[in-house]
Amino acid sequence: MSERFIFTRHRTNCYHCGEDADQIIKAVSAQAQVICSACGATRIFIPLFENSKAIGVCTPIGCYDVWDIEACGQCKNCGVAGPHDLTIGCSHFTTRCRNCGYTHFYRFNLEYMARCPIGEEEVSVPRAP
Ligand SMILES: [Zn+2]
Ligand SMILES: [Zn+2]
Repeated sequence: MSERFIFTRHRTNCYHCGEDADQIIKAVSAQAQVICSACGATRIFIPLFENSKAIGVCTPIGCYDVWDIEACGQCKNCGVAGPHDLTIGCSHFTTRCRNCGYTHFYRFNLEYMARCPIGEEEVSVPRAP
């Protein structure tokens, strides 16, 4: 993805592995992702709608704390690169431009676990005698 809208990280206890680890947050128009840097648990959010007017905050239906994060991004509505308010819950992800209020709403789509870098089953290569 060449488009780079929001790229930030948020340190918190991972909902999956429970580690206090950086959660890497990426968002572009087509998709938003949250990736745990410790265990690789990834959540993918897909766009629900966009709105140029602030209509208030989506009601968070969360299974854990909603994160309120500030991140820098370039607004595709007003073109200003500046602070955006991110609200990330377990079923939704929103970004809002502080300059013009343009908001992207994403909804939770899927989750997957990246493979652990050190596998439990080491592949044993048969050695030549
Ligand atoms: Zn984790
Ligand atoms: Zn804007």
